[in-house]
Parts: sequence; structure tokens; C-alpha cells
Amino acid sequence: MKSIFTFFIIIFLLSSCSPNDKKEEKQEQYVILISLDGFSHEYAKKYNATNLLTLAKEGIEAKALIPPYPSKTFPSHYTIATGLYPEHHGIVGNNFYDPNFEEYYSTSNRNTVEDGKWYGGTPIWCLAKNYNVRSATYFWIGSEAEINGCRPNFYNNYDKTVSIKERMDKAIEWLQLPKNERPQLISLYFSLVDDSGHKFGPNSKETEESVKQIDIALGDLFSELDSIDLPINIIVVSDHGMYPLDQSKKVFLEDLLDWSKLDANPTDAFATIYTSSSTERDSLFTILKNKEEGRYITYKKSEVPKNLHYSNNDRIGDIVLIANAPHFFIKKSKKDYWGTHGFDPYKYSEMHGIFYAKGSALKQNQQIPAFESIHIYLLIAEILQLPYDSSKIDGKPHVLKHLLKDQF
Ligand code: AMP
Ligand code: ZN
Ligand code: ZN
Repeated sequence: MKSIFTFFIIIFLLSSCSPNDKKEEKQEQYVILISLDGFSHEYAKKYNATNLLTLAKEGIEAKALIPPYPSKTFPSHYTIATGLYPEHHGIVGNNFYDPNFEEYYSTSNRNTVEDGKWYGGTPIWCLAKNYNVRSATYFWIGSEAEINGCRPNFYNNYDKTVSIKERMDKAIEWLQLPKNERPQLISLYFSLVDDSGHKFGPNSKETEESVKQIDIALGDLFSELDSIDLPINIIVVSDHGMYPLDQSKKVFLEDLLDWSKLDANPTDAFATIYTSSSTERDSLFTILKNKEEGRYITYKKSEVPKNLHYSNNDRIGDIVLIANAPHFFIKKSKKDYWGTHGFDPYKYSEMHGIFYAKGSALKQNQQIPAFESIHIYLLIAEILQLPYDSSKIDGKPHVLKHLLKDQF
């Protein structure tokens, strides 16, 4: 009799514990943030990326994702990571000069890419760490550096040769770790669509192939994620689109200035130039203005249009040249290529990327207008229930908060 009584007591205790446990489990959300570099907002439909289209249809589909200016890979990814415009997070280009450090930052220089002194703001994985939420990155710009004493719990130094499958398998492995080791925030990054877009152009067979290839791999990943019994939220983004280049619209850099005598890092879509005095600045400004012929616009840094948020940082030179697409800057010796980005995303919709999301904290069947990628940070913070100070972020909570379920 006594043992039957004990049995019922145990059953009662177990049943009264489990709802709370379940509730706790439900509240602990997971976010997989996936970046498809250079994936234009037009690609999924144009190239029939069925797995992405299904995710978008069942979950949330933005008409487009508007990258910050300049729409280059490093500034744009770090904007997603921090919720800040490049002028505020400091990665103002893929390559740029810092007059205070008297050094150049370059994507091809591992010492700079991995050095936290270049990166401002609080990346989302650091916000997570502040609240003991674990994170893992299989590549993300900024995640290879220790930023203010913080790194993701797991991270990988960039290695382009790591296969798509290996990256995706690792994400699944991370999600299968014991709870106390398991990251709640995971990032994945894939560059193949951007690579084809540059080499062959956005309208090429090769780019179509790359879109299909990543879509098939994503289909497998989504199925595996479906079979994991955790409240997972998938967010697929891209850092920019791709502009098809017309080789007759080249603006030869050599015809503009002797760049070797300047502290400048000209790219195909823009250039910023440092000068040693206001006299030098004004004379260069006049030279460049006179050569414009509608192909680009020359600005003094303080006069860059406000909507570009591209003046308030010492790493932006005193003169900013902005190409008017389809015109693009290039050296005479450079081999032809057929696509690029970095142009004004408020002028050229070709620069727009994607935002598709689906998950247990998110509403379903939502189609939303294009929005700026500065807002994603706070959406992730909301899903992971990380407190934040929105006055320190350029993104605004109200832009995406309505996409959250009332209860999750
Ligand atoms: P973009 O020049 O803006 O087209 O940059 C795209 C290139 O950035 C891709 O070819 C990637 O291989 C490269 N990339 C992406 N992430 C990293 C990283 N963490 N470190 C170095 N290169 C990277
Ligand atoms: Zn990119
Ligand atoms: Zn690119």
C-alpha cells in the first residue's frame, strides 16, 4: 500500500513539473542565420529555387532586403551582425584606410580581418554572450576577431575551400550537442552565388547553376532541421544583389588620377580619397568634377547624401566618388568580369538582396515590403530574448517585431 502511495506521489510530482519544463524548453529559441553572398532578390523566382521559395511562402518573405551603403560584402555582413550602418560600425568598405591607425584594412589581409580593433558595435554573438546565450559561426564577417574581449563560442577562420555540406553538417552537429554546450545562434555563409555573379554576370547560366546548387543543399539542410526537436528559426539573407556589367561603360581609373600618390582604395563602384590639406582636397575635387560626364558623382565627404549614411567616420576619405551604374571604375589592366555590386542601394534595386525566414517564434505566410538590413539585429535579439538598448542601434524594433508570434 505504502509503495502504491509513493508511486502516485512520484507521478504527481512528475506531472506537475513537466509543463514548466516544457515551457522553458519552448522559450529557448534557436536561430540559424544563413547568408547567401550576392543572392539578388530576383534569383529565387527567376531561377526557380524551389526550397527557398517554399520557405519564403510558408514563413516570411520580404520583397527585398536593402543593404547599407556601400553594398559590398564586408560592410554589409557586419551591418547585419551589429544593426549599425558602416559609418557607425567602422567597416566602411572591403578595403579602407584608417588615418588614426595609419594602416589599411583589407579582406585579403588575415591580420586585419582577425584583429578586433577594426570592428565597432556589439555583434549579435557578443550581445548573446552577455546573456549567456551560446553562439557558433561557420563564417561571418567579424566573427574571426576578438571584439571587446568577445568571440562566438565556436567560430572558424575563413576558408573558402570548406564544402557547403561540411558547413551545413556542422550546424546540425552543433544543434545535437548537449544542452549546456549547444549554441542557440548559428551562422552559415556561402559565397558561390556571388562568385558566379561576378565572373559570369547575374543573368548567366553559371549563376543559375549556382543558385540551383545552393538551393538543393539548403533543401537537405531544411529537412534535417525539421527533424530536430528544437524551436528553430531559419533566417536566410543576402548581403547585396548583382549588377550586370556592360564593358562599354568602363571608367578607367588611370584617366582620373594618379592613385599611387594617394591614400585611397578605389573599387569598381566607389572610391574614397584622403587628402593632406583642404587645398589639396579642393583641387582634386575640381579635377574629378570636371571629368564626371555623368558617369559618377564627386562629393566632398560632408556632402555625401544623408540617406547613404556615409560621412561620419574618419575611415571615409575627404572625397567620395560614387559611380552611376552601369558605369563602373576599373584599371586598364584588369580582365573583364560581368557583374558587380557596391552601388547606391537606394537608387538601384539590382543591389537588393533577400530576406526569407521561418520558425517557431515567427508568424507564417507573411509577405512584407523591402526593408533595410540594419533591422535584422533586433529581430534576432527578440527571438533569442536578449535585452538590448535600441538607442545604440541604427535598426528600429518596430520594423520587424510584428513578425513575431504573440507567444513563443
Ligand atoms: P566582394 O568582393 O564584396 O564580392 O566579397 C566577396 C568575397 O568575400 C567572397 O569571394 C568571399 O570568399 C570573401 N569572404 C567572405 N567572408 C570572408 C572572410 N571572413 N574573410 C575573407 N574573405 C571573405
Ligand atoms: Zn557579398
Ligand atoms: Zn561580390
